[in-house]
Amino acid sequence: MRASASTYAARIRRFRLPRLCVAVIGSDASSIVERAESLVRDNPFLEFRLDYLSQPVAALPKLKNFLEMHPEATVLATCRRAVNGGRFRGSAEAELGVLLKAADTGFQLVDLELQSAKALKSDALQKLSDRVGLILSYHNFRNTKKLEEPFDEMSECPADFYKIVSTATNLYDNVVMMKFLEENSAKHEMVGLCMGEQGIISRVLGVRAGSVFTFGAATRGEETAPGQATAMELRDTYRIETVDAATQVYGVAGDPVEQSLSPVMMNAAFRRETVNAVYLSLHAKSLKDLLACVRDIPIRGLSITMPYKQEIVEELENSDPPTRLVGACNTVVRGVDGKLYGFNTDMAGIVVPLEQRMHLAGTRILVVGAGGVARAAAFGLKAKGAEVFITNRTPEKAQSLARQSKTKYIKRSEVAKQSFDVIINATPVGMGNGKQTPLEEKELNTKYVFDLVYVPAETRLIKMARAKGIQVIPGLEMFVQQGARQFEIWTGKPAPVAEMAYVVTKALERRAAEEAAEGRRSLAGKATRKAVPKKARKERR
Ligand code: NAP
Repeated sequence: MRASASTYAARIRRFRLPRLCVAVIGSDASSIVERAESLVRDNPFLEFRLDYLSQPVAALPKLKNFLEMHPEATVLATCRRAVNGGRFRGSAEAELGVLLKAADTGFQLVDLELQSAKALKSDALQKLSDRVGLILSYHNFRNTKKLEEPFDEMSECPADFYKIVSTATNLYDNVVMMKFLEENSAKHEMVGLCMGEQGIISRVLGVRAGSVFTFGAATRGEETAPGQATAMELRDTYRIETVDAATQVYGVAGDPVEQSLSPVMMNAAFRRETVNAVYLSLHAKSLKDLLACVRDIPIRGLSITMPYKQEIVEELENSDPPTRLVGACNTVVRGVDGKLYGFNTDMAGIVVPLEQRMHLAGTRILVVGAGGVARAAAFGLKAKGAEVFITNRTPEKAQSLARQSKTKYIKRSEVAKQSFDVIINATPVGMGNGKQTPLEEKELNTKYVFDLVYVPAETRLIKMARAKGIQVIPGLEMFVQQGARQFEIWTGKPAPVAEMAYVVTKALERRAAEEAAEGRRSLAGKATRKAVPKKARKERR
């Protein structure tokens, strides 16, 4: 039965649509249906990427069964052509043919690219929008410039939704996208976001700027666009369904920040304490770009990480004593006056886990490293009355830090001859691999080893210390404690430390399992390649 455009518009009114549309992919009908079946219970709004199917039209009868079995789901059909960033190799007419058949199959919405719409006759387009809800879309895979130009062209074609997707080449592009959505969403049903790693701001906050919904990947590895977050991240970490105008925005800013576990930890803390706030990962390639976003979004608070901990100090209206002492800031609050106030919680991150185990006055502590975190350790522990020794790959830096913090420099060759209460690793050695260690076994004459590296959770240093019967403090404790202080500074509430530690531990375990599976896959690949003679491999290709 055919329905008029107005009937469809009524069926898909924005308030009936969930905010999250999950993209489903598969190479044949059975696999796409299988994926959809596993997703539909938690995700009532799905996009079937028909262009990923080798034979989209032939697959439709099987998809029809799925649609009939799940009348509760809203399902969108997309058959994006390769020229527009999809996988469908046919012409615009062929794309239209697939979408018309998808409409007859029972899909409630279809997505048609502006370029395809322009290549079609207007009555062909009318035929499509008479049968099904139409999303007219435009993708820019290069930048976020001149969004009005394609939008003016799009507005000439009647559609239920206008979708503009651009690429963020910096953080401020998200602001450009959100301003664009704010300007146009009162007149049109809009969907808008920026692709790319830097586009996460618009993927989460776009819905409050006027985007009716946003897109998520089913799982990691099933992304259908660059920078697409998973449905689970958007729903559970960023709480996309509850983001509103009152939601305070926070984030971790640095370069790189892709691997940061701060969003998982801080969003869990906000959820636990029912704070209406969202915490994003902000890949800032320059401080200027970051500061422009802080002003325009506006962002209420920031965790600052490398390489901006020192540079940000210049931008602060005022800062706490640890920031002034260390000369580095890892926590920013944007006051109601719009000015930035700085704090250093790294110091607490090192001192608190140690104070939970010992009285620091009079203890002998060796700090390995003389960078930013070693500075926080040296000044913080000295202030607590510890006798602090610094050693470092570049001795001059250790000597300079020892002078400034009124602690002691120790040559690396002397370390094995001394004994300590605590040895702290404040270098990146051991990060991301289980083989390297900043000290050798014979140098570990200590009661405690505190490894500030927290990825992996079990570094070689930690393993070596355990094997020697030395008590260990994992870097995760510093991570959680510095984050807990940030939470308290931003919200004035006690931080849910146990919850924060739990989610970070789980995230690290998940990551380690994913890496192990990845390692097994590549080993299996190597084994297969070995088993197949070189000549046969060549022939297969
Ligand atoms: P940083 O300012 O870059 O300082 C790095 C220090 O490590 C420098 O003293 C450097 O020696 C030394 N170093 C680097 N590579 C080395 C190598 N291959 N062998 C020996 N020494 C080496 O970094 P940072 O901000 O202080 O951070 C240091 C580490 O602390 C990070 O990598 C991270 O793993 C950890 N961290 C943990 C947390 C947490 O919450 N747990 C928070 C922040 C940082 P030179 O002076 O000779 O270059």
